[in-house]
Amino acid sequence: MPEERAEIGPLPVVPFMKIADSGEPYLEGCSCKRCHSVFLGQRSVCAKCGARDQLETKRLSNRGTLYAYSIVHRSFPGVAVPYVSAIVDLEGGGSIKGNLIGVEPDPAKIAFGTPVDVVYKDALGRKDERGNSYLSYFFQQRGQSAGSS
Ligand SMILES: [Zn+2]
Repeated sequence: MPEERAEIGPLPVVPFMKIADSGEPYLEGCSCKRCHSVFLGQRSVCAKCGARDQLETKRLSNRGTLYAYSIVHRSFPGVAVPYVSAIVDLEGGGSIKGNLIGVEPDPAKIAFGTPVDVVYKDALGRKDERGNSYLSYFFQQRGQSAGSS
């Protein structure tokens, strides 16, 4: 008989990333019942219309478009550069910042408005003090083969 395992990882890197009971990761936000604005994570007051306690939890899409990006050449020690930091507008609402992967960090290769998918991968081998790994989210241009991981 297999023994029950005590480990609980992988852990989401940010509070607005959740892992369903099925093990499927997703992004969580909230939407305003009054004005239908969508925000990343949880809040009690709508930043658009000011409604209080009118925000309900919403599972965000894993599809979006590239709104803006920046190629980062200098970062914290230990972080490999260059990499592409991007802001993506998600389908159905919500904007999120993260890293665009699977693309050369070259402005000639990256177009604004490109359709992207949110993908979930191990967070660069980082672990907590109990040895649990972290799961992070990244953006990948749609239509790219997933085999590049
Ligand atoms: Zn609102």
